[in-house]
Amino acid sequence: MKEKDHEIVFKHTGYRREDFSVCVGCKICASVCTVNDLDIAVNPQELLLRLFLGQEIGKEDPLVRYCTSCYRCAGACPWKIRIPEVVRAVKESLGMEALFEKAFKKSLNIWGRVYEPFVVVMAAPDLLKGGYIKHMPKWMEYAGFHLPHKVKRLKPLNASEGLDPSEKGRS
Ligand code: SF4
Ligand code: SF4
Repeated sequence: MKEKDHEIVFKHTGYRREDFSVCVGCKICASVCTVNDLDIAVNPQELLLRLFLGQEIGKEDPLVRYCTSCYRCAGACPWKIRIPEVVRAVKESLGMEALFEKAFKKSLNIWGRVYEPFVVVMAAPDLLKGGYIKHMPKWMEYAGFHLPHKVKRLKPLNASEGLDPSEKGRS
């Protein structure tokens, strides 16, 4: 995506190039970014800087590829810059398929709600590509699954503890 294509991003988001000059480079957006939780190093501020400076942005940019549109960064940014909307606009101008958005819409069409297992199954082929399988457990947790190690087992009741005192004599 070259500088001339940046206009698409500005048009879709309503931002002007100079609006990104308010970014103070505090990197709070990077510190809360969900993608960094998945051990993929990204810095949303860098994307804004590239747009501001008119630099090229590629499909291989990890933020462009993995942003989950969780809005954590927008909530934490002192200027409330709508970074996920910027990322989405960049994706659109790069002609990239928004995998999860597509899966959400399809799920809504079929069941009238977001059915998480379906979304994960739809996303799985893409996640499996390029060795992303190691990130699957975290993706699944974000999608609402809880892995067995998160389930606390209750200690089995001692037979005598579980009985009503009046019933003890009968057993
Ligand atoms: S919306 Fe995207 S860039 Fe912002 S915190 Fe979430 S994953 Fe990171
Ligand atoms: S949190 Fe906002 S101001 Fe801070 S670096 Fe990120 S975009 Fe810039």
